[in-house]
Amino acid sequence: MTVYASGRPAVSTFTVPEYAERLKRALGGSPQQLLIDGKRFDSRSGETFETVNPATGEVLARVAKGNAADVDLAVSAARRSFEKPTWRRMNGYDRGNLLLRLADLIERDAEELAVLECLDNGKPARLTRLVEVEGAIKTFRYFAGWTTKFGGETLPVSPRGGAEILNYTTREPVGVAGLIVPWNYPLSMAAWKVAPALAAGCAVVLKPAEQTPLTALRLGELALEAGFPPGVLNVVTGFGDAGAALVAHPGVDKIAFTGSTEVGKEIVRACAGNLKKVSLELGGKSPHIVFPDADLDAAAIAVANGIFFNQGQTCTAGSRLYAHASCFERIVNAVGDIARKLKIGDGLKPDTDLGPLASQEQWDRVNRYVGIGRDEGAKLVTGGRRPPGLDGGYFFEPTVFADTTAQMRVVREEIFGPVLTALAWNDIDDLMEKANDSVYGLSAGIWTQNIKHAHRAAAALKAGTVWINCYNLVDPSTPFGGFKQSGWGREHGRQAMELYSEVKSVWVNLS
Ligand code: NDP
Repeated sequence: MTVYASGRPAVSTFTVPEYAERLKRALGGSPQQLLIDGKRFDSRSGETFETVNPATGEVLARVAKGNAADVDLAVSAARRSFEKPTWRRMNGYDRGNLLLRLADLIERDAEELAVLECLDNGKPARLTRLVEVEGAIKTFRYFAGWTTKFGGETLPVSPRGGAEILNYTTREPVGVAGLIVPWNYPLSMAAWKVAPALAAGCAVVLKPAEQTPLTALRLGELALEAGFPPGVLNVVTGFGDAGAALVAHPGVDKIAFTGSTEVGKEIVRACAGNLKKVSLELGGKSPHIVFPDADLDAAAIAVANGIFFNQGQTCTAGSRLYAHASCFERIVNAVGDIARKLKIGDGLKPDTDLGPLASQEQWDRVNRYVGIGRDEGAKLVTGGRRPPGLDGGYFFEPTVFADTTAQMRVVREEIFGPVLTALAWNDIDDLMEKANDSVYGLSAGIWTQNIKHAHRAAAALKAGTVWINCYNLVDPSTPFGGFKQSGWGREHGRQAMELYSEVKSVWVNLS
């Protein structure tokens, strides 16, 4: 059963296996090298690490393990290219054309990139095509438009003494940006940061997650092919220590990070050294609220989709269901039925709904939380284990817990897997208190046909995004980010351009 949107770009069932075989052969050769200053290098230490296909547990490729020395080289390359007139003085129209060309090249290689991401991350190829690749194309095209529209303004100042003053502001690129991305949406998270950073005129060092380094390296190569000057986009693969070296580097002016709240806090502490600018997209524990007057069939599908999409490894996953007591059983049963019908398997197969979790570590984490939920007394409606017959990879059944309470750890902590906790509500004030009772504030969903309920709830929820009668819609034109410990700043839209630029106020005495 497919609960995901259809009718959007799909991958061809004929070419997926062909690409997969070709990619596996190519990746099985020499290690994937770092991309610094437009050239491919081994890491200074010569060390490599393995990236694994989570559907099989088999090694997919060996990858250069960058460390502080490599980060230093990449930052120097970025600094040089940032200062060179070829990039620094390039006008917005030409920068926009480079971004458009990069989008075209991603589109040219869309199927190959989709299969590569499927092999490295595990999510079904039709979804990597739809979410990762199409998302990246859209993001680069969107930010290409800002290069000719993002500027300053003229302001009506009122100086003492009646001097005639012209005051205007300009926007300048912040400088060298360190971009650290996670493994759950590798290519699209990279695009969310690289596109506005380059549109603003920054030079960047991109550090992908150790679990999913491959599409970031391809993105770097495609940027060179598009004509970006060498050193404008550098890619350093490696572990958390490479990320930490980037964060601590005095030559980096800005850090943009997506990942865990815990590492986000470490980053804030580490950025204090040179007070570099920081933006953070962190965890979530989003409430998905169903009113009794909702279209209950549509709500049940959205609740299932909201938590199970990407195997629940989504920062905005609607992981806490609050359904009104009068429809609680119906919604929970419907979500349980959908969960049991979802097809779990290798993402290379055309009918797979849920692939594996991204790593053994993630499987262990989800399994541990299911044990905690059971011990806390939550009622397991469905799932909670490895699907029978799928022993090779990191597969986990979509799981629903009912009879949960606000105090349970499974309700309070981010599991980052396909695990829904469900709670019945009666009183709207009590509901809002519970929905907001979280250290996170990334997103929330509301299902109701009553316009007053919808807008009152949207206003009361402490969340960066609220979806009404829909869930998990994102678009480059609308801001994305969190309240509370879900982050600092907003990606997408004009707000993302602001993250990668400084404002300068210029005073001209005309008297
Ligand atoms: P992390 O936050 O550790 O990793 C995210 C990125 O940060 C990776 O590129 C990672 O590198 C890098 N990194 C790790 N440590 C540091 C550091 N000290 N300084 C700079 N960069 C660093 O997430 P995990 O992969 O460990 O996942 C753990 C949990 O985080 C998940 O279970 C989930 O709850 C949450 N998470 C949330 C995400 C979101 O979208 N909000 C995305 C991913 C995870 P490396 O991969 O090499 O460690």
